Amino acid sequence: MAEEYRYKRVLLKLSGEALAGDLGYGIDPKVVDSLADEIADVVHDGVQLAIVVGGGNIFRGVSGATEGMDRAQADYIGMLATVMNALALQDAFERHGIFSRVQSAINMQEVSEPYIRRRAIRHMEKGRVVILAAGTGNPYFTTDTTAALRACELDVDVLMKATKVDGVYDADPVKNPDAKRYDRISYMEVLSQGLNVMDSTATSLCMDNNVPMIVFDLTVEGNISRALKGENVGTTVE
Ligand code: UDP
Repeated sequence: MAEEYRYKRVLLKLSGEALAGDLGYGIDPKVVDSLADEIADVVHDGVQLAIVVGGGNIFRGVSGATEGMDRAQADYIGMLATVMNALALQDAFERHGIFSRVQSAINMQEVSEPYIRRRAIRHMEKGRVVILAAGTGNPYFTTDTTAALRACELDVDVLMKATKVDGVYDADPVKNPDAKRYDRISYMEVLSQGLNVMDSTATSLCMDNNVPMIVFDLTVEGNISRALKGENVGTTVE
C-alpha cells in the first residue's frame, strides 16, 4: 500500500540501453516484460509514476553527427527513436494491466498525446503511468536533461535513474575493482569530480531545483519497489 512507500510521486528515467538488455541494440521483450511486472506492483500500490524514456538503443544524435550528419537533424532522429521505445513500453504495460498514456514533446497525434504538464499530472493522479517521449522536443539536449526538467515540472518526490550498475562510484567499477561506491553524494561533488552520472545540464537543473535522485541497478529484480520504499539500493544524489 502507498503508506509503505517513502516516495509517492516519481519520475523514472529509463535509458535506451536499459531496454536493449543483453541484445545491446533494439528492444529486448524479456527486459520490457519484467519491467512492466515491477511497475505494475508499485502503481497498483498507489505510487504515481512518470517515465522518461531514452533512445540510445536505436539512435543517438551525437553518433550521427560524428559521421557527418547535421547535429540538429541527427538529434531529431534520436528524439523519434524515443517515441518507438515509448510505444513499445506502453504495449507491455497494457499487457500487464497498467493504464498508461504516451505524451510526446513533438506532436504525433496518431500515436500519442502532446505533452501537457497539467494533463500529465492528472493522469498520474488517476493511476495512469505517463510515458514521456521525444525528449524536450529540442535538439542539443538529452533525455537525462528531459528527466531533470520533467521532474521539476511535475513536482515529483524523486528522480530515479535506472542504470546497469548499483550506484555512483569514484571510478569506473568495471575497469577498477577498487572503485568505491557512494551511498550519498551531493550534486556539487558530482559536478566538481566530473562523475559520470548525468550530463552537466541535467545535474545542474536538479541541483538548482532541489530534486533528489537515486541511481540504481535496474537489472536486479525488485529494485524499483525497494528504492521507492527508501531502502538503500543505490546512490542518493541530493
Ligand atoms: N534528444 C534530443 N533532445 C532531447 C532528448 C533527446 O535531441 O531533448 C536526442 C539526442 O540525439 C539523443 C537521442 O535523442 O542522443 C536519444 O536520447 P539519449 O541519448 O538521451 O537516450 P539514452 O542515452 O537515455 O538512451
